[in-house]
Amino acid sequence: MNYLGFLTGSICCAIVILVIFGIWFDSPKEAILKKENKELQYHYDLLKGKVDNAVKMLGYLEERDANIYRVIYEAEPIPLEVRQGGVGGSYRYADLLERGLKSESLVLDTYKKVDALRKRLYVQSKSYDEILSLARNKEKLWASLPAIQPLSNKDLKRLASGYGYRIHPIHKIRRLHTGIDFSAPKGTPIYATGAGKVVKTKTDFSGYGKHVVIDHGYGYKTLYAHMQDFAVKRGAKVKRGDLIGYVGNTGSSTAPHCHYEVRKNDRPVNPINYLYQGITPEEYEELLRLASVENQSLS
Ligand SMILES: [Zn+2]
Repeated sequence: MNYLGFLTGSICCAIVILVIFGIWFDSPKEAILKKENKELQYHYDLLKGKVDNAVKMLGYLEERDANIYRVIYEAEPIPLEVRQGGVGGSYRYADLLERGLKSESLVLDTYKKVDALRKRLYVQSKSYDEILSLARNKEKLWASLPAIQPLSNKDLKRLASGYGYRIHPIHKIRRLHTGIDFSAPKGTPIYATGAGKVVKTKTDFSGYGKHVVIDHGYGYKTLYAHMQDFAVKRGAKVKRGDLIGYVGNTGSSTAPHCHYEVRKNDRPVNPINYLYQGITPEEYEELLRLASVENQSLS
């Protein structure tokens, strides 16, 4: 009886010890698997962090693209559903599900994230391509548009009369003065105010006198009148700042000056809006003030 009791006790003890040992201590194979699992989990977390970071960065890029670049370059906005790429339903991941991955599993979640990221990156790169080509075209536009004064005017004192209704110096009547007059000594260099092609170098005995017309494209032309001499020939290609002639007193002019016109689609517009390059906002304000004085033009 005693012996049986001892045996039972021993067996019970052994079972308890085995169970405890099984719980607390893994077999070598289990230990390796657990270690592997732990490492995988570590790398997975690392990867997930990286994917989340990439999603965040792409978000910033998309925002900048939509709110700055596409606005500046007047590109059509990209609809949100196109940007998000409309990632397909769970059928895309059926293969993974069949292999026993739970639909809420971490790996599946990351697959979905990376897929969405790939699509958004594709849309974003297409957008940059478009912006790049628009920017290339705009670069030419910006180089072409009239943007400076046609002659050196450091202290701004040369602006003698602005665009608008002014008393004509010869006819003595109020009429539309279609340009801006810059008074300067004879022989002062006159420069092209934007890139373009010289389409006219003409000598009139009245009116504009010796004058040059530059076609800048995009519907813009500029005219420089009352020159003493030309420095370019018809057909010449010029850049902004290139010498085209010299101030004179030819045609209907009461004193040496450059009468400067900007024309949009062959109609004169106020050149004051095209004098923005190379001057400070304060200087521009002063030019505006001078150009708005309703004085007598030099013609
Ligand atoms: Zn004038």
